[in-house]
Amino acid sequence: MNFTEQNLSLEKCPALVLNADYRPLSYYPLSLWSWQDSVKSVFLDRVSIVSNYDRVIRSPSFNMKLPSVIALKSFVTPQSSPSFTRFNVFLRDKFSCQYCGSGHELTFDHLLPRSKGGQTNWHNVVTACSACNVKKGGRLLKYSGMVLAQEPFQPSSEDLHKSGKNFPPNFLHKSWMDYLYWDIELEN
Ligand SMILES: [Zn+2]
Repeated sequence: MNFTEQNLSLEKCPALVLNADYRPLSYYPLSLWSWQDSVKSVFLDRVSIVSNYDRVIRSPSFNMKLPSVIALKSFVTPQSSPSFTRFNVFLRDKFSCQYCGSGHELTFDHLLPRSKGGQTNWHNVVTACSACNVKKGGRLLKYSGMVLAQEPFQPSSEDLHKSGKNFPPNFLHKSWMDYLYWDIELEN
């Protein structure tokens, strides 16, 4: 038994949840279930266990290793158009100001300012640091002398998945790696 893992608190043993095709259900936020939910879904026969922690849980009637990776038995179709949220806008823009590339003090800029009828949607809102936001002010982009890194677009779930891989959570169990990164394109 791995002594270190046996001393881990149960709360630090979430399971990575894969879809039935063995790709993570989502990358950002990473699809993780608490140990209680993952054990329950094993008993309900909704998931297969792909990998385990060395951490064992015991009750009078059974012992089991906690699952570290589980896969759904039935495929869940990913949501095709992600919600328009602050977080997803940052994720689409890779947490960088679309004018100067900075990752600090991020806010949102309306390309067509709200004061001029600009809407709050995927096509008019970009990530901007507060300095660039102030600099652009209420001007139209073409009069601001500033250049966008990319035209804002409505991302697909796949786009956000790809982007999310660049921002992994702080803790990744070793058994998750094969499933998190196997579909990254190989470079020559
Ligand atoms: Zn900036």
